[in-house]
Amino acid sequence: MHVVKINPGREKSALHRHPWLFSGAMNPPAGTPGSGETVRVLDTNGRFLGWAAWSGESQIRLRFWSFDERETIDRDFFRRRLSRAIELRSGMDHASNAMRLVNGESDGLPGLVVDRYGEVLVMQLLAAGPESWRDVLCDELLALTGAQAIYERSDADVRELEGLPLRSGLLRGELPAVTDITEHGLRYRVNVAAGQKTGFYLDQRANRHRIGSLANGADVLNCFCYTGGFSLAALRGGARSVLSVDSSGDALDAARVNLSLNDLPSERATWKEADVFQYLRRLRDEGRSYDVIVLDPPKFAPTAQHVERASRAYKDINLWAMKLLRPGGHLATFTCSGGMTADLFQKVVAGSAWDAKADMQMVGRFTADTDHPVSLNFPEGDYLKGLLLRKA
Ligand code: SAH
Repeated sequence: MHVVKINPGREKSALHRHPWLFSGAMNPPAGTPGSGETVRVLDTNGRFLGWAAWSGESQIRLRFWSFDERETIDRDFFRRRLSRAIELRSGMDHASNAMRLVNGESDGLPGLVVDRYGEVLVMQLLAAGPESWRDVLCDELLALTGAQAIYERSDADVRELEGLPLRSGLLRGELPAVTDITEHGLRYRVNVAAGQKTGFYLDQRANRHRIGSLANGADVLNCFCYTGGFSLAALRGGARSVLSVDSSGDALDAARVNLSLNDLPSERATWKEADVFQYLRRLRDEGRSYDVIVLDPPKFAPTAQHVERASRAYKDINLWAMKLLRPGGHLATFTCSGGMTADLFQKVVAGSAWDAKADMQMVGRFTADTDHPVSLNFPEGDYLKGLLLRKA
């Protein structure tokens, strides 16, 4: 087994059980470990730090599997970690048959994401470590969950940073003709093969439900609607009208199907394929206004380097949304950018309010739902942040 020694002073994060170590924290070990190989990590004095997966191509050179010297990284280890992740969720009431079963680093399994949609599991291998345990993970997941199929969606761009090819396809079992899930009584059809990410944004489940409770009698504008999650929740909550905007025609087609699967007043829904940045200005030119607006854009700042440009983009859409909001109305505004802290996001949105000359009050905060836990040792995992604002 390869041994990797960490440079003096650079072992601190590992002592605090942070799961990553960057390439600059170490000298290359004698002989090159294979991609994803488990290595023994020591500090400069030879003291044990942990067992980690080696990612030779990535800036994140090591991802820790364990900080316990007695642990062996083998099939049993993965069975234990997977079963713990699943067990931790067994007491949660998500009002859904879909949930995130494994949330990567925060579940002690760096680079592994597993979402369950009814009888179908969708797995993402986002780093060299889990990539090298692909078959073991598949077998153990099937055994632990009794799922009918496992589909791989390792087609996220971050794989390229690991020097891994993008890949997706069926791994085990057979996909049912359709994969329908229920969330708080609403039915959604999930396209695990071609949908965004693993098919559905499970992280917003509780927030969709909350918006539904604000929507009674409201004119709602749902920006970046994807397959209509917030739109259906608003209709079910008694919205008078819901205008939903997305730049993806495929997402809007799926949203129309989702609406048809539910007993909802479909005549109150309008779907618009457009760029939100331009469309908000157009709505303003047309003199329109709304009681509830949702802004749930894609990641504008994947890392801290993109934060400045991302801030301008967030500022812009929030500014126009505030102008379109009626007095007493609610704006639910989100960022899912890892590079954007909650604090900075709030400042950016405050800047929007200032420029819009809108008197906005904060009446709530949003995070990802509880099946997306964030380990306190891994603040980077806290990607979804949102504010619920009311116009005074
Ligand atoms: N709120 C959704 C998830 C939104 S994901 C839910 O609850 O399921 C972000 C969406 O923004 C994607 O569907 C993507 O197609 C869309 N999008 C990205 N850039 C856009 C733009 N400039 N204008 C409109 N939609 C955009």
